[in-house]
Amino acid sequence: MSTTGFDAERPIDLHTHSNVSDGTESPGEVIRQAQRAGLGTIALTDHDTWDGWDEAAAVAKAAGITFVPGVEFSTQVYGASVHVLGYLVDRHNVELYESITEVRESRLTRAERMVERIGVDFPLTWEDVLGESEVGATIGRPHIADALIRRGIVADRSEAFESILHWRGGYYQPHHAPEPEEAIRLIRNAGGVAVLAHPGSRGRVGLDGGRFERLVAAGLAGVEIYHRENDEDSRALLWDYAREFDLIVTGSSDYHGAGKENRLGENTTEPEYLQRIIDAATGTKPQYGSSSA
Ligand code: AMP
Ligand code: FE
Ligand code: FE
Ligand code: ZN
Repeated sequence: MSTTGFDAERPIDLHTHSNVSDGTESPGEVIRQAQRAGLGTIALTDHDTWDGWDEAAAVAKAAGITFVPGVEFSTQVYGASVHVLGYLVDRHNVELYESITEVRESRLTRAERMVERIGVDFPLTWEDVLGESEVGATIGRPHIADALIRRGIVADRSEAFESILHWRGGYYQPHHAPEPEEAIRLIRNAGGVAVLAHPGSRGRVGLDGGRFERLVAAGLAGVEIYHRENDEDSRALLWDYAREFDLIVTGSSDYHGAGKENRLGENTTEPEYLQRIIDAATGTKPQYGSSSA
């Protein structure tokens, strides 16, 4: 295997999280886990940040794994959360940087507000939450969940999301996020490739045909079909859209370390689709690994 392409023989996983957002492992540890799982290519796609790229790339280089830089953008449609994966964006693009900075700052204020409200009924403080997150990490409900676990208020993240952190749980607060069309335009303008993440997840906003057409018009290039939160029916529908709009089709784990049950490589992407992502991108390039490492 040369350093001019990725290894098409080994599995490709294009959606993972580190503790730079709401995963539980450092970016380097995610790559080491990928190596242990036998993956040949991995994308790190932390929520609203690319701060893990350099560490992940350095460890991937030593591990002989191809590294694809990515970000999972938080967007919303009438208050419902929609995630858009952006691959190979230019992180020096000012507009994109300003947009994700705004989202991250709003996430911080929103989490503080949620903790304030939770603190009225439960022994939970903002310091508890800071203790569960890395400095500068994109803060999300999972960090509040970890603080609730530490305090013995819930057993695990899932229980937290089903009760106190549920959007109807009485403590929920929204955060600012652009509409998906806007995020897609920003990704494209930064030379990246936009892929709609797990459209069949709770809410199923991403399955609406009219919406899908508008996303494609805004520059959506692909759709994540093979993901544990897309059931059989949504996969069939998404394949119809993929054929209709000639979309790139991906499959990924959405690994969060110990924060979720999702295991690395549980879903994978076909090499020809990764090649299409690489060919369409002008923002940056993957760092190719060599299997001789
Ligand atoms: P937020 O973006 O802060 O509203 O939180 C949503 C994040 O929480 C998503 O990115 C998921 O990764 C994570 N999440 C949602 N539900 C669960 C769950 N049941 N267990 C663990 N993590 C979850
Ligand atoms: Fe997450
Ligand atoms: Fe997501
Ligand atoms: Zn994700």
